[in-house]
Amino acid sequence: MIRYSRQQIDDDDIAAVTAVLRGDWLTTGPAVTAFEEDLCAATGAAHAVAFANGTAALHGAAAAGGLGPGDVVATSPLSFVASANCARYVGATPTFVDIDPATLNLDPTRVPAGLDGLVAVHYAGLPVDLTALPDRPRVIIEDAAHAIGSLTPDGPVGNCAHSDLCCFSFHPVKPMTTAEGGAVTTNSAELAERLRRFRSHGMVPDPSRGGWYYEVVDTGYNYRLTDIQAALGSSQLRKLEGFTAARIAAADRYRELLADADLQLPPEIPAGYRSAYHLFPVRVRDRRRTYDGLQAAGVGVQVHYVPIHHHPVMAPYGPFDLPETDAAYEGLLSLPLYPDLTAADQDRVIAVLRSLL
Ligand SMILES: *Cc1c(COP(=O)(O)O)cnc(C)c1O
Repeated sequence: MIRYSRQQIDDDDIAAVTAVLRGDWLTTGPAVTAFEEDLCAATGAAHAVAFANGTAALHGAAAAGGLGPGDVVATSPLSFVASANCARYVGATPTFVDIDPATLNLDPTRVPAGLDGLVAVHYAGLPVDLTALPDRPRVIIEDAAHAIGSLTPDGPVGNCAHSDLCCFSFHPVKPMTTAEGGAVTTNSAELAERLRRFRSHGMVPDPSRGGWYYEVVDTGYNYRLTDIQAALGSSQLRKLEGFTAARIAAADRYRELLADADLQLPPEIPAGYRSAYHLFPVRVRDRRRTYDGLQAAGVGVQVHYVPIHHHPVMAPYGPFDLPETDAAYEGLLSLPLYPDLTAADQDRVIAVLRSLL
C-alpha cells in the first residue's frame, strides 16, 4: 500500500530518542526547551511553546489570545475540524470564510470587518496572504499544521509577521513529526507566558512563599510534550529543508507528468512563496470512482477534507452558504506525497490514476 503521507525516520532520529530514554528527564526536561529554541531558529519567531499535539496548540492559542464567549472566530471550511473546534473549546462561536478556488485557502479579501478571531489555515502548505485582509481581526491565529517549511515574501511561516500566534502539528503525516506533537510560535512574551501556563494547569510558582509553592491562576490542562518527542522533533527539524526539497521535487514531477491529464492540478505557488507541500490535492471529475479505483490498486489516496460545515456538530452555528468550498470538495483527492516517495511508486500512482480518468 502506498500511503498518502508518512513519516521519514532515520538512525539519527532513533539515536536522539534513545539518548533521552537513557537520561534523567522523560518530560518537562531540557529536550523540550531545546526543541522550542530550535523552532524559534527555524521560524524566526521570538517564542515557541511545545504542545502535546496540534489540536492542543490551537486550543492554547485561542485561550492565550483571549478568545471566549461572545466572540466570533472564522476559519477555512476546507480544513480539519480542529481549525474550528479551537473556537468551540473556549466558548466562542465558529464561523467560516469561503475559499478562493485559485488557492484553496480561505479568501482573505472576504474576511468580514470587526471579526474577533481568525484561524488562517495554510491549506496543503500554501500560505494564506494575510496582507490581503481588508480589516485586521482582533486575534489572528495561523493554523500551520501543513506548513512548517513554507515561506512567504516576509519570511518563514511561523515568524508571525502578520499574526499573533502560529500553530503547528507534528503528527506523522505532517511535514515533520514527533509522533503526536504540536507547537505555538509568537513574538509576544505575554502570549508565550499564557501559553506555558495553559499547557500546564494554569500553575504559577511563587518561590518567595516556599520552594514548593505554586498557585493555579487560570484554567489550564496537561498539554505537555514529552522530552522523548521533543528530541525526535529537534532531530527532524535538522532535516526539514531536505524533506521540503524532496516534497517540492515530487510535486513538480507530478505536475509535469500529469500536465495533460484530465484533472485539475493543485494551485500554483505564487512568486515569493514556497509551499511545504504537505498535500498534493488534485481535483477529478468522478472522485468516488477514482478514489475507489486507486484504493483497490493499493494507492492510499485521501480526501482533504470533508468540509467542516458539513459535520453535524457544526449545525448549531449554521446554516452556511459556502459554494466555492462545496464545489472544490466534490473533486478533491490528495495523491501520495512524502519525502522518500520513490519515482517508481509515483509512476505507479500516475499510471493507475490515468487508467481511471
Ligand atoms: C493535523 C491538523 C490539525 C491537528 O493537529 P493534531 O496534531 O493532529 O492534533 C489541525 N489543523 C489542521 C489543518 C491539520 O491538518
